[in-house]
Amino acid sequence: MNCLEFRRAAMLAPRRLDTEALGHAERCPACGVFLGEALGLEAQIENSLDIPVPHGLQERMVRNALDAPRISRRQALVAGLALAATAGGAGLLWQRDDPLALAGIDFVVFEEAQAILDAKPADPASLRRAALQTGIVLPAQLGELRYIGTCPFAGATAHHVVLKTAFGKATLLLLPGRPLGTRLIASARGLHAAIAPASGGSVAIIADSSRGIARIESILKSG
Ligand SMILES: [Zn+2]
Repeated sequence: MNCLEFRRAAMLAPRRLDTEALGHAERCPACGVFLGEALGLEAQIENSLDIPVPHGLQERMVRNALDAPRISRRQALVAGLALAATAGGAGLLWQRDDPLALAGIDFVVFEEAQAILDAKPADPASLRRAALQTGIVLPAQLGELRYIGTCPFAGATAHHVVLKTAFGKATLLLLPGRPLGTRLIASARGLHAAIAPASGGSVAIIADSSRGIARIESILKSG
């Protein structure tokens, strides 16, 4: 096992490393330090968010990401342009999907896996502040937290949250300081997205079903 393999494993599930990985951490001082930080971070996330963290963070998500075919930025851009052209054409016949909500779906399809793989250490305190500023809460009944981080989205920094909910996997993008007059929706690529206005910004919710999105919205509001 080399350092890169070790760090990937430690980032995914620092408490469930196999003997080979633990042996590497003992022999390699730099990776030993890295493991300490990863363990500290996991504890910190558990302590500072209400959402339970069951077994390591986002393990299955990242497995899926690793298994998924690599999509280059250029491929993503071309696909995005093709999608925009299709959406534009369809708009003549059907109600047009909102472009910002569509961007939320594209983010999940093309960028989310890479964002998780490239993630810097998560900062739960920063997510807490962003939720406060946006005017939402993230109560435990939302589901299991699988990943938190920040990423660029639609010209701003979004706080990126991946959840496992009763309705399957869902992605939240908290957009503090980005107010919205009305709720925006879109559906594409088998996913649904809604961007809901909140008192201090807005929040994009991307999930498999519009029912799941409605449920998440009601939890965010009732909390
Ligand atoms: Zn190492």
